[in-house]
Amino acid sequence: MSSAEAIALEDKYGAHNYHPLPVVLSRGKGVHVWDVEGKKYFDFLSAYSAVNQGHCHPRIVDALAEQARTLTLTSRAFYNDVLGVYEKYITEYFGYDKVLPMNSGAEGDETALKLARKWGYDKKGIPDNEAKIIVCENNFHGRTITVISMSTDPDARGGFGPYTPGFITVPYNDLDALENALQDPNVAGFLVEPIQGEAGVYVPDDGYLTRSYELCKKHNVLFIADEVQTGIARTGKLLACDHENVRPDILILGKALSGGVYPVSAVLADDEIMLCIQPGQHGSTFGGNPVAAKVAIAALEVVKDEKLAENATILGEVFRSEMKKIKSDMITLVRGKGLLNAIVIEPKGGKSAWDVCVKMKDNGVLAKPTHDHIIRFAPPLVINETELHEAIELIKESILSF
Ligand code: PLP
Repeated sequence: MSSAEAIALEDKYGAHNYHPLPVVLSRGKGVHVWDVEGKKYFDFLSAYSAVNQGHCHPRIVDALAEQARTLTLTSRAFYNDVLGVYEKYITEYFGYDKVLPMNSGAEGDETALKLARKWGYDKKGIPDNEAKIIVCENNFHGRTITVISMSTDPDARGGFGPYTPGFITVPYNDLDALENALQDPNVAGFLVEPIQGEAGVYVPDDGYLTRSYELCKKHNVLFIADEVQTGIARTGKLLACDHENVRPDILILGKALSGGVYPVSAVLADDEIMLCIQPGQHGSTFGGNPVAAKVAIAALEVVKDEKLAENATILGEVFRSEMKKIKSDMITLVRGKGLLNAIVIEPKGGKSAWDVCVKMKDNGVLAKPTHDHIIRFAPPLVINETELHEAIELIKESILSF
């Protein structure tokens, strides 16, 4: 099948809820992907940071294949011999009493919201149906009705009302606004991305997470970190919250928890919070299935054994410093942490971030604009320095061609 045929099929038979770059991929290995015509690319999106361990990592794929041949799904109506092993592994890995396994990132966020509300009623004594969660402007937590009810992005939320009530929105990186909102005694939780990924890789000021956490503690409010995109070594630490030594009360993980081979998400918390949810109050047919459990263990082992966080720190510095050296008035800002980075593009001669991405694709690097004027660069964390420099040259060449 040619690229044109594949694109025509998706266009005719698939919902038009995405606007992909015109490239049709058929194979991936490590930091590279190949299109149906055999052209090779660097993947600088990594499926929105789900493929931190690189495409088709043999250890993760083996874990998947072996478990798929043995037992795939029991539902949680019965026990299986893998889930408990995974639960012990992941809770020790991140240092929490318990985990609640789900599938997608949005489900992880929904789970955290339910958990925070339930804790608010059972432990904090918030009157029935009065619990509130503080969220940030320009957040991205997924696509369900409740999750878009927290959104301030007109594209994400417009036309999908009525919305779920119970949210207070404050500007990101604004401690005064947070402190003000925390005066409401019915607030159960503060939900925050340690770096706002979809918004365009907004890194808050140093100290923002620590101070927010302290303010939450002062007001008996749960600090809930959505590390679906920033977690699992992407920013140079296992968690982005680790940069400030903040331990969230509720931690949400997804994406790279599976190395991109399978949808796996997780919510971690201590007993005081997690045991507020009892049998029948939450669940998922696929959440915690044996394949997901084996895949997640392998994905987390790879992160530690291959020192991906350390690699992200070192190569992230290289990437940002090389981007800052590009002499183009199209680049107005370079920002990020570890290997989660972005450049802000000033349109030139009618050419926007989209055109830059198309040019980079032609030159062999895949990245995607976010919000018209920002390009995120997030290669698999298994990239080495030689590969990074090779990709940087292609990015430079693309930008300088305008
Ligand atoms: N939370 C954050 C911070 C995300 O970046 C995303 C996806 O980009 C999600 C949640 C939603 O994850 P999913 O697409 O798996 O539902």
